[in-house]
Parts: sequence; structure tokens; C-alpha cells
Amino acid sequence: SLVLVTGVTGFIGSHVAVTLVNNGYRVRGAVRSMEKAEELVGLNPELKDKVEFVFVKDIVAPNAFKDAVQGCDYICHVASPFFYENVTDNKTQLLDPAHKGTINILEASLNEPKVKRVVITSSFVAIGDFMKDPYSGSTYTEKDWNPISYEEALETKNGFAAYCASKKFAEIAARNFVKERQPHYDMCTVNPSLVIGPPIHPMKTMESLNASNRLLWSLINGSKAQPSFQHVQVDVRDIANAHVVAIEKPEMSNGRMLVSKGPFITNDVCKILREEFPEMKDVISEPTDVPFNDKHYKSDNSYSISLGLQYYSEKQTYIDTALKLWERAKQL
Ligand code: NDP
Repeated sequence: SLVLVTGVTGFIGSHVAVTLVNNGYRVRGAVRSMEKAEELVGLNPELKDKVEFVFVKDIVAPNAFKDAVQGCDYICHVASPFFYENVTDNKTQLLDPAHKGTINILEASLNEPKVKRVVITSSFVAIGDFMKDPYSGSTYTEKDWNPISYEEALETKNGFAAYCASKKFAEIAARNFVKERQPHYDMCTVNPSLVIGPPIHPMKTMESLNASNRLLWSLINGSKAQPSFQHVQVDVRDIANAHVVAIEKPEMSNGRMLVSKGPFITNDVCKILREEFPEMKDVISEPTDVPFNDKHYKSDNSYSISLGLQYYSEKQTYIDTALKLWERAKQL
């Protein structure tokens, strides 16, 4: 089967492509730079002759995916703007590209009878409430929705809140589209928490590292950033597998899968990596004695496990990611 992957030159998209190829799928990657496409294959030789590329300059433009979807059996729509620093216009930088990109791909798929399912990479940030006290003991599941309103999303000066809203409203728009238009294909979402993992996608400098890995990189790049952050995390390789599960499992028809391993505690990251790599102590931040707060919000991954998804241990994730980050930094 042929799978269109958007955002294929990004952090998650590149892993989705590699995992699909390893599972016997053919992949068509949508890119906005052919140079990046070549770099991606250079970095991942297993993609050579297994992936073709289609140029989609702007996912927001009308008919952007008209040619890209032709002949595809499945779509993995991974592309969406993911940044929350220096946001100056919530609507044009985040809300519109997330929303219009999603609607464009669903509309284009109406014209390709072969499409059986569209898998959209949504997010845990479409699920959780990040404006309330993080230590209020919530455990989030697929039933929850981030309560932010569209008006708040337009007005907020908090770039992270605007990013969260862009994912929420894109997912809602996709679900409404399917209800109203009753397409011949079905749709589902994969909702990852903070995705950490070895970066295998093209990047020019370590400063252009994707947003989620930057959190880990700041703890191991010699800048000695203070570890003071708690969230929930998942390995990028598990997210890639989750996209395969989302394509293959009949239960995921119109489904929603929260994909998350467990707590991400920056103190623990530093402890684990200092223990594993004593020779790198000079560049790894020192853990503080801030205790683990059990009232911090949690993610319930039982549905994903019931569908057969397996998870990397957090230790393995941090070790593999640190090694790859140090390797890439040396090469750049
Ligand atoms: P990246 O920034 O590495 O990848 C984003 C991808 O989307 C890139 O390939 C980028 O293209 C493409 N893209 C962004 N904006 C546009 C646009 N306007 N037009 C065309 N393409 C665009 O981030 P991730 O891989 O981490 O994110 C991928 C998806 O996963 C996003 O939908 C994100 O919301 C979601 N997600 C990520 C999480 C994380 O912690 N990383 C957690 C939960 C969800 P190009 O390569 O050309 O720059």
C-alpha cells in the first residue's frame, strides 16, 4: 500500500516514514524543499528507492494536496507548525496553517477513491488543560479536551497556549468535516505527549533542532540549564509505531489514541544520563533536589496498549536520544 506522509522532513514525520517502510509500506513524502528531501534520504539510506517525494509548497493554499493524494491508500498528516517562541500572530502563524492544512488534506482525499483512512497527528495538548494548576491531580484520557476557546486562542500572548489551541481546533475541524461530509474514507487521530527521541531528520544547526528535543538538548549541551520542568513524554519510535497501529486497526475508525509513556521530569533525565555517561558530566546539568510531585497531571495510555502498542522505557529513550544528539552536534 502507498502512504502519503506530510511533514516527512520533520522530527516525527521522518520516523513515521522509516517505520512505514520497515513495515512493508511504500511512502510518498510531501515536502516544501526538495533539498531537504534529498538530505533525509542521505541520513536514512533505508529510505532509498522506497520513498518518493511530492512538492507541496504551502499546505494552506487551496488545492495544495490535489496531486499529492493521487493513488494513495492511506494518509498520515503529520505537518503542522510546531513552535511557541517568538509567536507574533497566533492566527496566521499557528491557527490557520494547522486548521487549513488539515481541511485541505481531507478535501483532497475526497477525490481519491483509493484512500481508506486519514491518520492525523494531533496532540496531547488538544487533550489537557495547561492553564490550570499542573499539580491538581488530573489523569487525562482520550475523552478529555483542552478547554481553551477560539477567542482566547486568538488573543493569548502565551505562544504555547496558542500552539495547543492550533492542535485542538484542527482536530475538531477534522472530526466535524467527517461528520458533515461523510467521506468514503475514515479518519482518526494519534495524540502524542512530549515526543523525545533520536533526531534522524535534516537540520542545519543544533539551534534549529525541533522544539520537543530542544528541552532535552538544553540539559546535555553544556549550557547547564536548570532542570525544573515536569510533563509527560513518549519516544518518537513509539509514535511512529502508533501511526502504523492507527492505519491497521479497525477499532481506530474515527478513533483517538493518546500515546504517552509517562512522566518527563528534567531532574530524572539529568540523573539517568549522568549515571550512564559519567564521562559527560561536564555538559549534563546537575539535578536539583526538587522532589517528584505526585499530584502532577498524568496521561492514561491504557487504550494504546490495548491496541497492541509497546513503549520504550524512559531510560532507553533518554540514552538513545542523548547519544544521537551528541553525534549530530559533532557532525554539524
Ligand atoms: P517538526 O517541526 O520537526 O516538524 C513539523 C513538520 O511540519 C515539518 O516537516 C515542517 O516542514 C512541516 N510544516 C510545518 N508548518 C508547515 C507549513 N506551513 N507548510 C508545510 N509544512 C509545514 O515538529 P514535529 O515533528 O515534532 O511535529 C510533527 C507533528 O507532530 C506536528 O503536527 C505537531 O503538532 C505534532 N506533535 C508533536 C509533538 C512533539 O512533542 N514533538 C507532540 C505532539 C504532537 P519542514 O520540514 O519543511 O520544515
